[in-house]
Amino acid sequence: MTAEVIDGVACAASIESSLQIRIDSLKQQGIIPHLAVVIVGEDPASHVYVRAKQRACERLGINSTRIDLPEETSFEQLAEIVQDLNTDDSVHGILVQSPLPNGINELAITDMIEPSKDVDGFHPVNLGRLVQSRDDGQIPCTPYGVMELLHWAGIELTGKRAVVIGRSFNVGMSQALLLAQKGADATVTIVHSKTQNPEEVCKEADILIAAVGVPEMVLASWIKPGAVVIDVGVNRVEDSSKERGYRLAGDVHPDVADVASALSPVPGGVGPMTIAMLMSNTVRSSEKKL
Ligand code: NAP
Repeated sequence: MTAEVIDGVACAASIESSLQIRIDSLKQQGIIPHLAVVIVGEDPASHVYVRAKQRACERLGINSTRIDLPEETSFEQLAEIVQDLNTDDSVHGILVQSPLPNGINELAITDMIEPSKDVDGFHPVNLGRLVQSRDDGQIPCTPYGVMELLHWAGIELTGKRAVVIGRSFNVGMSQALLLAQKGADATVTIVHSKTQNPEEVCKEADILIAAVGVPEMVLASWIKPGAVVIDVGVNRVEDSSKERGYRLAGDVHPDVADVASALSPVPGGVGPMTIAMLMSNTVRSSEKKL
């Protein structure tokens, strides 16, 4: 079997076109959606992600403000910037790019972001609303993007066994909640670093979501024939044959395509969806529906 490719680029493009209509309508009311992104330090991957987010804003006509801060920025300085953005009525979405330098308590910064402007969906109020299955919160962009991708690809979830590898609040745990919610209706198991025999648990999955951060950890032998596999992982693997010295690898081994019925690629799968959902959360915030 060669798995069908679940094309995140095409799905993200279709989400962007529907957002464009809402952005045009906001502009007719005199509102230009505005996303502020704060980046602290020089982490190269973070700079790549922030540039991609800015490009998406440009494509859609969303205003974006980028605030670059040096590595030695203190917690207090960053907190003051977040407070200023909270009270700036022209700003609809605030994103503080992770990871922050050691010494800055990332959760404490997240706690300070006004929940209605928390377009990452990481504030405890928004995560609490997710647990309550409410529709008045912001949903973390990556797991939200995975749900949209599954829907777009016509993957039926009701009554299916879903396994999520990873339990971070930003990806795995939120993903598990979304899959188990009424309306999605999958039966969900979470695999983490203390799970015994993860391959046997994964083999029960009709739908497997890998969000681990270990390059190509999920092998073909872990997959139930015909399962749908979503690879969230983005890992830099040294590769001297590449000009930049590394290649991008997912959490799923490429041989999985021989066993799965459908597989999302890396790059070109979940990555573009994360950005599309960030744009979607920013538009939602601008519509003041929160
Ligand atoms: P994270 O916070 O490091 O969480 C990783 C999770 O994987 C943890 O829950 C950890 O378990 C679990 N884990 C680690 N090693 C394991 C193992 N050997 N077996 C089973 N579980 C294991 O990472 P994250 O932020 O969730 O990100 C996960 C991956 O997704 C990374 O590759 C990241 O780059 C990627 N990502 C991609 C996007 C995108 O837009 N495409 C967005 C966000 C993240 P414990 O809890 O037990 O430690």
